[in-house]
Amino acid sequence: SKSEGRSKLKLFDPVTLHSRQLQRQIVGDLREGIRADQLVLYYQPIVELATGNIEGCEALVRWNHPVHGLIMPDQFIPVAEATGLIAELGRWVLRTAMRQLRQWRDDPATQQTVFSMRINVSAADLQSLEFVDDVRDVLLAEGLSPDSLVLELTEGAIIQNNELDRYTLMSLRRLGVGLEIDDFGAGYSSMGYLRKLPVDRVKVDRQFVKDLGKDPSQLEFLAAIQQVIRSCGLEGVWEGIETAQEAELLRSIGCTSGQGYFFGRPLPEADFLARLKATRGH
Ligand code: C2E
Ligand code: CA
Ligand code: CA
Ligand code: CA
Repeated sequence: SKSEGRSKLKLFDPVTLHSRQLQRQIVGDLREGIRADQLVLYYQPIVELATGNIEGCEALVRWNHPVHGLIMPDQFIPVAEATGLIAELGRWVLRTAMRQLRQWRDDPATQQTVFSMRINVSAADLQSLEFVDDVRDVLLAEGLSPDSLVLELTEGAIIQNNELDRYTLMSLRRLGVGLEIDDFGAGYSSMGYLRKLPVDRVKVDRQFVKDLGKDPSQLEFLAAIQQVIRSCGLEGVWEGIETAQEAELLRSIGCTSGQGYFFGRPLPEADFLARLKATRGH
């Protein structure tokens, strides 16, 4: 866990990505990496702001490269998306995260801490007809109810909003899994679609909380965002909470769920398990 946030290799710098040769090499490495089990999931808690209780966790992928060490997702997700490898990666994440959740539920030391798993879904996943089947199959195989899974989708992925996407979203909705807009406010920032999309949660981009730390007068603005989310009948989750003050301010304007370094960094399985055991019974 020490490596988190440190010594992030800028191997796959966006500029050098334009080199087709390098891109091909990364793709080859990544394809091999997925098969050779070099991908690893870290888990970050999502907590109830009022109590600090864990109500879920987000699975965040890293690539444990045999030569280059731990590589952060920003360095290889874009490559995976550009090449179609993202489908295989997405399936691996889905399968691995839900198997992990089932293990925590089976373990007497952690089964009281019942919560849901959040995974990040890319635009390409939504365009694949098999995605809904994959989700259904994994839930069935692990014996988990649909509400133990929440899919995080970025505005960009949803707003492409062609008919197939919408069909996929509706199918997932009917299946009963949770759907959440991720990075809300970071990109297109159109309020209109909040009421129209079949989602039940909104994760507000961490840029807003960051601004709050610099300028407390931002609080009123954040309260307005929270108000809009609530008035659409959605649940708001606030990410990027790094201090007790930020957590308290958000709580004071009626925010209920949060995520960030203040509550816990993304942790490898063993460390997250220790954290779960320590908070048992809360
Ligand atoms: P995201 O979905 O917005 O995930 C949150 C990112 O913010 C994570 O970065 C997390 O480590 C970081 N973070 C959490 N709390 C704090 C905080 O308090 N302060 C700050 N400054 N940062 C915080 P990470 O793990 O590097 O992931 C980056 C992005 O990569 C994710 O952004 C997501 O878009 C993508 N990603 C990660 N895992 C997957 C995956 O399995 N599939 C796909 N398609 N994308 C993924
Ligand atoms: Ca996310
Ligand atoms: Ca986010
Ligand atoms: Ca993001």
